[in-house]
Amino acid sequence: MIPEFRNEAPTDFSDEQNKNLMLKAIKDAKNEFGREYELVIEGWKVKSSDKFASINPSNPKQVVGYAYKADQGLAEQAMKSALTTFEEWKNVSPEIRARYLYKAAALMRKYKADLTAAIILENGKNWTEADGDVAEAIDFLDFYATRALHLAERQPLTRITGENNELYYIPLGVGVIISPWNFPLAILTGMTVGPLVMGNTIVLKPASNTPVVAAKFMEIMDEAGVPGGVINLVYGSGSDIGHYLVSHPRTRFVNFTGSKEVGLFIVEEGSKMQKGQEWIKRINAEMGGKNAIIVDCEANLDAALSCVIASAFGYQGQKCSACSRVIIDESIYDYFKEQLVEKTESIKIGPAEDQHNYMGPLIDQAAVDKFLNYVEVGQKEGKILCGGHLLDKGSYYVEPTIFDNIDPEARLAQEEIFGPLLSLIKAKDFDQALEIANNTDYGLTGSVYSNNWNKLEKARRDFYVGNLYFNRKSTSALVGVHPFGGYNMSGTGAKAGGNDYLLLFCQAKSVSEEL
Ligand code: NAP
Ligand code: MG
Repeated sequence: MIPEFRNEAPTDFSDEQNKNLMLKAIKDAKNEFGREYELVIEGWKVKSSDKFASINPSNPKQVVGYAYKADQGLAEQAMKSALTTFEEWKNVSPEIRARYLYKAAALMRKYKADLTAAIILENGKNWTEADGDVAEAIDFLDFYATRALHLAERQPLTRITGENNELYYIPLGVGVIISPWNFPLAILTGMTVGPLVMGNTIVLKPASNTPVVAAKFMEIMDEAGVPGGVINLVYGSGSDIGHYLVSHPRTRFVNFTGSKEVGLFIVEEGSKMQKGQEWIKRINAEMGGKNAIIVDCEANLDAALSCVIASAFGYQGQKCSACSRVIIDESIYDYFKEQLVEKTESIKIGPAEDQHNYMGPLIDQAAVDKFLNYVEVGQKEGKILCGGHLLDKGSYYVEPTIFDNIDPEARLAQEEIFGPLLSLIKAKDFDQALEIANNTDYGLTGSVYSNNWNKLEKARRDFYVGNLYFNRKSTSALVGVHPFGGYNMSGTGAKAGGNDYLLLFCQAKSVSEEL
């Protein structure tokens, strides 16, 4: 029987035992600081002539690890390895492929605290957020294994006399996986093991900010017994080897998650026919958002307040699902604004490894510069209500920041900032609030706070986002529960953690036998 999927439960850190386990895991992870991480090609650990440092954003002086950097020659070797391995892997049965995923999920459960510690230290996620990242990775493994087993079952076809007919799913070939840093384990795992369980082989290029967590993933896949060459891990610059792999004539599909700018570039480059190319590449590009929460005059404002804070400032606003616009009915605007500012000013900021800090640092200096630049833009476009500063020179800690009365067309209301910067926008009624919410190039997540059934029904129909939430926060989508992915410039329409996701990485073959 195919197992039923269940979501991994969050860890309760108020439990002394869990807390102590986490403290020990953080200590152990710090003892590993400065370790070197090799590329993995054909199952072999490979060093190159160049390496780069991954730093702890909570304390940029600390080097979490050094990753060897692949050049195009090594990327080519990884491609060759994936091509050769595909000839065997495509014939491994779905049951066996799924077994590797179930085992990897069990191993991630076993090493949960260590993985969480790695994310706390390499990403600057607080304990709860890092624990959620690991839980989601476990979910992707279990969920896609289960879905693959369902897809391997005999598919229903209409019967006709005199023929025996069958339809089944075969893999595509070599997939290039290009992942972002903001869910260094969950997104990387899901994007890789979905295609893998369908019989494709992989060249994986993780984000340069988070090579150490990518290495932990590879170690687990290796321990789970996934044969060498099925996943080839190459660290290196997106614009160099990332681009090289996307343009490669033997790349069959690209699975990308990241910014709109890079995603659109990949869509364009991936569509160019290369010499010797035999197929049209499939390109999945999951990109950014400019997500809005509508707070209606008929809403539970206390609930709305705490969920706006969580959606906008959880993980420092560095989630694709983060709220960056709150659209508030004018009759409650001033009250809501005052309460929101008061709550925001009490947020604790500091090193992610300290359990009591709600907000940690931004990911790197470039993110800090971008944030400060948008604070300047905001001061021309509206009034700053709180925040706006870098906490200490040389650090990556910035304050949660709110701007008042932003025009729906302003840059602050249109561009993805990817930091803790929230714009308040006034609406005269619910219809106008919906109009403002939809006034963006993106269409990823959205929330509505209202107790009015008619208004929720209107939003259900007209709020054009891939993930719409009523009376809850816009972040924390669960695998299998809230299949995730957006419209328009937010992506090409994959729903990660949904029933149809695996169909992106296979093709259906129909076989008909006359009797
Ligand atoms: P990014 O800068 O676009 O980078 C994503 C990946 O693309 C990285 O591995 C990067 O490598 C690589 N890359 C960069 N330039 C490339 C090129 N020219 N050719 C091929 N690959 C290239 O995004 P990020 O900063 O990591 O992540 C944040 C963004 O991801 C936000 O926009 C966020 O909204 C989006 N996101 C979307 C979703 C979703 O499900 N829709 C989920 C999470 C995040 P390097 O690291 O080496 O530059
Ligand atoms: Mg780093």
